[in-house]
Amino acid sequence: MRICVDAEKCEGHNRCFALAPELFEVDDLGLAKALNDGRVPPGLEDKADLAIANCPEFAIRIVEED
Ligand code: SF4
Repeated sequence: MRICVDAEKCEGHNRCFALAPELFEVDDLGLAKALNDGRVPPGLEDKADLAIANCPEFAIRIVEED
């Protein structure tokens, strides 16, 4: 599973980081970026889904594996 944050949609609520700090980092403005180039480690898929479902801007999405 691989995810990414759309920087143009992210408004920096920090919610994804609060729910899944293993998967996201946030900058000083609270804007999020997916860690590990978006690759979700095994066992953390549910947390990724939770973050996706709780992003108020619909900024997190699943991308195709390459
Ligand atoms: S929850 Fe969504 S809008 Fe908020 S910081 Fe994360 S990606 Fe950005």
